[in-house]
Amino acid sequence: MINIILFGPPGSGKGTQAQKLADKFNFLHISTGDLFRAEIGNKTELGQEAMSYISKGLLVPDEITIGMLRKKVEENPDVEGIIFDGFPRNVLQAEALDELLAERDQQISALIALDVDDEEIIGRILERSKTSGRSDDADVDIIKNRINVYKGETAPVFDYYLEDERSHTVHGVGSIEEIFTRLSDLISAL
Ligand code: ADP
Repeated sequence: MINIILFGPPGSGKGTQAQKLADKFNFLHISTGDLFRAEIGNKTELGQEAMSYISKGLLVPDEITIGMLRKKVEENPDVEGIIFDGFPRNVLQAEALDELLAERDQQISALIALDVDDEEIIGRILERSKTSGRSDDADVDIIKNRINVYKGETAPVFDYYLEDERSHTVHGVGSIEEIFTRLSDLISAL
């Protein structure tokens, strides 16, 4: 079984590429952002709690996020592979993920980071806000907060998996198809 972390700052194209990769390789795509938005849409207690952090550009507390992720993984025991999109977002979440996979005699095969500069991602997120309906996409200060959280809390996850050479970087600017080819080639070579 192959387990991939698709990594990168907000707006780097993880969601788009993760879906395409999941279709191509027949993997399950798990996006914690999408899971939270489904909870928010269903007006659940978890959704309301998550929204209070998401609307400020902060991470949702680990306990909530890890519990939700674990449930999703456990609901899908027979998949050929998983693409994790938006998780792990800090080192504690990475440790929890490793533990969860180890319980199943599995591990992360690779972390692939999409490299996109700040100016480009702010432009992309503001553009996305016109159609996404996401309040966290429409405000430059909230977007900058998300980028700062990425640099401070999330980026260390790259180094965590780099220690045993599982982290890779792919240039994240270009057409969707070009970037998809770069990612597919890397995964096919694993
Ligand atoms: P983006 O990658 O564009 O920031 P996501 O849909 O992945 O969008 O995430 C939206 C928001 O959901 C994040 O800003 C954060 O508040 C929350 N979130 C998503 N995944 C996690 C996670 N693993 N840990 C904590 N919070 C998360």
